Amino acid sequence: MIKTPGCLFIISAPSGAGKTSLVRELLQSGLNLSLSISHTTRPPRTGEINGRDYHFVNEEKFKQMLFNGEFVESAEVYGNLYGTSQHWLNDAMTSGQDILLEIDCQGAKQIQQIFPHSIGIFILPPSVEVLATRLKTRAQDNSEVIKKRLMAAREEINHIAEFNYIIVNNNLDEALKDLICIVKAERLKTERQIMKHRTLVAQLSS
Ligand code: 5GP
Repeated sequence: MIKTPGCLFIISAPSGAGKTSLVRELLQSGLNLSLSISHTTRPPRTGEINGRDYHFVNEEKFKQMLFNGEFVESAEVYGNLYGTSQHWLNDAMTSGQDILLEIDCQGAKQIQQIFPHSIGIFILPPSVEVLATRLKTRAQDNSEVIKKRLMAAREEINHIAEFNYIIVNNNLDEALKDLICIVKAERLKTERQIMKHRTLVAQLSS
């Protein structure tokens, strides 16, 4: 039996746009999405767990993995290295799961080139002030890092036209509703539905 390929969702946002909370809520909304756990050289923040939030590795190990072709995409973000496991993605795709990648714009571009049917979603903060406040109140990064992240936000926002959808995260509940709508609508696209329900379509049309 041929498996219907799953949807490949990419979610990008400037740091502080509320993407992590949104993704957490989305995963708990019963939509059955598989989140890729990235590898990173960034040190864990308080409360982060290896294997749950990220696979935390040192630079030597990351570079070795990169050299071995173990990442389907990778990027340097705010001075740290991040990458998505090729092996994990292949397995998830083969089993027809709907996949979620929470990655930056550079990674999104690489994935969109390899998988043109991937669905890019960009999360915007409602204002510069809110973005700055969220970064400061998170208090998990030092002021130098916060400054770097604010500057990087400008650069990332220049890439929004490369995404299929844009959500303004003014209110978590509303943004989550929008995100759920996108996932459901993508799952109902004709191409996917014809493949998924091919037996029914064949029976009804013969
Ligand atoms: P943070 O350090 O705040 O968790 O993440 C910093 C940035 O790196 C975020 O924009 C996040 O989406 C991005 N990121 C996380 N994992 C990956 C990955 O595997 N690949 C790429 N390209 N970016 C990633």
